[in-house]
Amino acid sequence: MTDKRPLLQQLIDALRCLPGVGNKSAQRMAFNVLQHNRDGAKELAEVLLEAVERIGQCSQCQNLTEDEICSICINPRREPKSLCVVESPADVIALEQATGYQGHYFVLHGRLSPLDGIGPDDLGLGKLDAIFRNGQLQELILATNSTVEGEATAFYIQSLAQKHNISISRIAHGVPLGGELEYIDQGTLAHAFGSRLTLEQ
Ligand code: ZN
Repeated sequence: MTDKRPLLQQLIDALRCLPGVGNKSAQRMAFNVLQHNRDGAKELAEVLLEAVERIGQCSQCQNLTEDEICSICINPRREPKSLCVVESPADVIALEQATGYQGHYFVLHGRLSPLDGIGPDDLGLGKLDAIFRNGQLQELILATNSTVEGEATAFYIQSLAQKHNISISRIAHGVPLGGELEYIDQGTLAHAFGSRLTLEQ
């Protein structure tokens, strides 16, 4: 059965899938593109469709990429013996901009949250454990958010890595409790990353 709603209403409802966009904003956007910017809207629609179809996860680090392996993992100048674990692709960008970190990343796309049904398998922790077990890694930096769930996730990953003679550290200093990395200013994030705490093995 075809959608019976008027096309304008379908557009407004579809726009509401974007974060922070309520009914009023969606209406404003819909009227704006129809009245003033049809070309821009066409380009948006094309890029959006292509991005959604072609951007997937890096087979090594799970960061978003349109390639099999992302530009960081494939870069021979990055140090594969060092791995920084973050919750989101936005955290990778924040750390890349704020620090001179030259190692690799692992992107969880979330944090452990039993109440929401998010367990180790949902974050790719089996893949991360395989990286620990292959014995190449020397340094692990736990850069999950300093929320309760971020801390629990860091603790869980620490317990996986501990058996493998890896130096483990946790960013801490200057990151506000409950803070999410991508919203922290660059100076604070650079300081937090530079003065991270080594965790006991
Ligand atoms: Zn990668």
